[in-house]
Amino acid sequence: MPTPRRLLPWQAFAAGGAVAALIGLALPPGLPNDVLFAVVALSAVAATAAGTRLHRPQRASAWWLLTGGLLAWALGDVSYAVCYTWLGWEAFPSVPDVFYVLAYPLIAVAMLRMARQARPGADREGVIDAAILAVGFGLLSWTFLVRPALAELPQDLPAGLVSLAYPVGDVVVLAMLVRVLSAAGHRSPAAALLGAAAVCMLTADAMWQYADAYATLDDTWVDLAFTASYVLWGTAALHPSMRRLSDPSPTSRHEFSTLRLVVLTAASLLSPGTLALQLALGLPPEGWAVVLSSAVLFVLVVARMAALLGRLREQTALLGDLARTDPLTGLLNRRSADAELERLRTRARHEGSALVVALLDLDHFKTFNDTLGHPAGDRLLVGAASAWTAALRGSGVQLARWGGEEFLLVSCGLGADRVEQLLTGLRAVVPEGQTFSAGLARWDGQEDAVHLVARADRALYAAKHAGRDCTRTAPTAQPTAQPTATEPAHPAG
Ligand code: GH3
Ligand code: MG
Ligand code: MG
Repeated sequence: MPTPRRLLPWQAFAAGGAVAALIGLALPPGLPNDVLFAVVALSAVAATAAGTRLHRPQRASAWWLLTGGLLAWALGDVSYAVCYTWLGWEAFPSVPDVFYVLAYPLIAVAMLRMARQARPGADREGVIDAAILAVGFGLLSWTFLVRPALAELPQDLPAGLVSLAYPVGDVVVLAMLVRVLSAAGHRSPAAALLGAAAVCMLTADAMWQYADAYATLDDTWVDLAFTASYVLWGTAALHPSMRRLSDPSPTSRHEFSTLRLVVLTAASLLSPGTLALQLALGLPPEGWAVVLSSAVLFVLVVARMAALLGRLREQTALLGDLARTDPLTGLLNRRSADAELERLRTRARHEGSALVVALLDLDHFKTFNDTLGHPAGDRLLVGAASAWTAALRGSGVQLARWGGEEFLLVSCGLGADRVEQLLTGLRAVVPEGQTFSAGLARWDGQEDAVHLVARADRALYAAKHAGRDCTRTAPTAQPTAQPTATEPAHPAG
């Protein structure tokens, strides 16, 4: 019989939370319900602290801030029940508001920290995304929540300001949530749970404010959403993947998921959407608010496009570099050597200048590998390439890795004798006392690149035959720039 599997802490907490939520739905409003709600709230705070202690994330400060924010929120809830339900207070603002208003900055700063830890340095795109959501939801909030609160301002300044703090706090927390999810990615369970917790909290809070302003909403749903948010916060902190949430994540850096696109589009459409809602509900439209938010959203979307375009350019350049260079030595690879040879052949034809190629091949490199090992062979290739690059700097000569331990040197404008001198210079700087043989060929003014390199290759073969560690020059017809039948076969250089 298989041994029964023990529930992990996060599973146990989530299951317990679900049961509590169901009981809460079944219980009528009153003391038992309030007590149950307080128990859920405080156990979520305990779970967040326990998860942080249990999993010991490398950067725990954000999680402790979050624990503090949730504690403030839970104390707000408990004191709300005590002050308003049991003691029958009427005053507003009062004790619970102090806790609630403190909770927003704590939660927002916790999330900002997580975002910054996950993506140190400038995160322009994350900031723009957060701003798009803040402006979109900000308009919605302004229209339906802030305006009613503002209406109270002239009569009762403290009440108006505190009422204002709630919707503003929600928008700020939402913006920070977007920053976390865009920096840390939303694929780890802890990030998904954290996102769901915050969305539940913000939704419940908005519903509550709406109910407060318009007195039209059933409290049951608000309580259920708050309960869900508590359970999700605690589960997120207890889930083992919370350890990785704020680790720097290079992979999520360039992610632009469909989900993100959908969310950003929806947020951008909130501006005309709010106007449409007002018109549909027969409310006086908030013309200037819609104009302003639409303009800001438009600018933000364009800035987002510009950021993406910049990244596209960066990636194109990177891909271009990768396609052009040899990964081991960083020299031009064979593909770009072909292109370069073709380009210089065209130039030599136009300018009537000399075009010289040389093939270099390390001597007895197989033996080197066999004796010292392939990694040592790789290091020698890298060392030779960088020494040659340094030696050739300023000469206008191109060097490419043609294959294995063969290199192609292409020069336009230098005579074959000058190139041979350069080769002598290269010989002196090969690391570890290694030698190479070289075959040199001067373009005859007509032949294609394949034939030119083939002649260099035959000259290289001759150099190997002649005992290695030397250069041989391919015999060629005189360049056809001044074609004569009587010139000797060997080029002047
Ligand atoms: P020769 O003087 O006639 O050129 O002798 P050789 O041993 O250099 O010539 P050969 O063509 O027989 O062997 C070339 C060797 O170069 C074979 C292979 O092991 C080695 N080689 C090719 N590419 C690489 C590489 O990227 N890294 C390492 N470490 N070795 C390589
Ligand atoms: Mg070889
Ligand atoms: Mg060799």
